[in-house]
Amino acid sequence: MSRLLFLGVVIAIVYWLLKSYRKQLPKEDTVSRQAEDIVPCVHCGVHLPKHESIQVDGKFYCSEAHRRIHAEKSE
Ligand SMILES: [Zn+2]
Repeated sequence: MSRLLFLGVVIAIVYWLLKSYRKQLPKEDTVSRQAEDIVPCVHCGVHLPKHESIQVDGKFYCSEAHRRIHAEKSE
């Protein structure tokens, strides 16, 4: 009887490990996807997520102020 109980505990632990392992996979996927979308600011070189940056003519800026400074310089 105790063997059956032990087997049940082992199966439960394996099941729990597999469950927690699968949970971790989507997290890693999200992180690597975010890392791909990091872009440098043309003006100051700071790296920021693409969706937080300001994109003008294929160039990325960290803020509206830097976009303006860069536009004034190139004019
Ligand atoms: Zn900047």
